[in-house]
Amino acid sequence: MRDIHQLVRENILLLEPYRSARDEYSGDRHHIFLDANENPFESGYNRYPDPYQKKLKSTISEWKNIDAEHIFLGNGSDEIIDLLIRIFCYPGKDKIMSLNPSYGMYKVSADINHVQLVNFNLDKNFEFDTEELLEKASDNNIKILFICSPNNPSGNAFEIDKITKVCEKFRGIIVVDEAYSDFSEKGSMMNFIHHYQNLVVMQTLSKAMGAAALRLGMAFTSTDIIRLLNKVKPPYNINSATQTLAMELIKNRAKNRDEIRKIKEHRKMLEVRLKAFDSVLEVYPSDANFLLVKVDDADQMYQFLLGKNIVVRNRNKAYGCSNCLRITIGNSQENEQLLDAFYVYSKTKEPLPISKSE
Ligand SMILES: *Cc1c(COP(=O)(O)O)cnc(C)c1O
Repeated sequence: MRDIHQLVRENILLLEPYRSARDEYSGDRHHIFLDANENPFESGYNRYPDPYQKKLKSTISEWKNIDAEHIFLGNGSDEIIDLLIRIFCYPGKDKIMSLNPSYGMYKVSADINHVQLVNFNLDKNFEFDTEELLEKASDNNIKILFICSPNNPSGNAFEIDKITKVCEKFRGIIVVDEAYSDFSEKGSMMNFIHHYQNLVVMQTLSKAMGAAALRLGMAFTSTDIIRLLNKVKPPYNINSATQTLAMELIKNRAKNRDEIRKIKEHRKMLEVRLKAFDSVLEVYPSDANFLLVKVDDADQMYQFLLGKNIVVRNRNKAYGCSNCLRITIGNSQENEQLLDAFYVYSKTKEPLPISKSE
């Protein structure tokens, strides 16, 4: 691994970040604040939010059992992906690498920043060979490697041993996107951030925690990378409502554990029952809250489900996913309606034309 500072764009290293009023002075509410041109009449939201989200980070620190200085918060994980690309990649020169198929935002963020995305194609079980991956990642211009685990859209999580082997050898920044790790038994890379200075683990409130609308993404990483993220982020990227609501949500997370348990039970049930249909060719093993399902004709099935007011994700065009739909695990009633629709589809489908012998 190279020194983090050798990987950073020089302009970012030299950047003098914007200093907000609350950077210059952050006293408590007994102070008279005449420094930020806010409206003095109390509304509950007339003041700018805490730019470093100290209270929320201390709540997350307890929850995840990690020091607050290793936590960065973004306006969704999507903001963190963009910030990392901007910190480490020179537009028009550097590259990022991701597994293929994987989450679409890596490519969109790379494209926006004029950074090339190099795909590493997964095998037919959506696995990778560590040596082959490292070989392809050895290009010096590949600054960031994104590993989504559990992977979207395939659903499988990678073995921790495999990911740590990649961390041992790759000399750029490794981002492990754990948006779905709460649904997985395979463990988290969180514990390794103290071991690998170039490792960033991303999690989010958008999936298992049931708070996609709040837009809160978390990155856990070395203090060197935290400092860079703080330099580049918009000063008030997490609004006050999100900071307050996220703290409440995390404090009341007992209810959430129950939801996750139910979703995992439903996943098992759906897997078994979907496999029973002739039109379903394969249900891939999932460590996430969705199933990748190979059907006889994904485009036709997608339209059929839409006709029944059921929206799934058609992944037919994604690498290695021909005729695959990505189906999120719903509540009991939603899952039953989905299964009903599959049942009706199987019954009404045109039988194959039987060639008559003359
Ligand atoms: C849904 C998802 C996210 C979540 O992004 P947010 O911006 O935090 O909502 C991140 N990574 C992957 C792979 C996802 O599927």
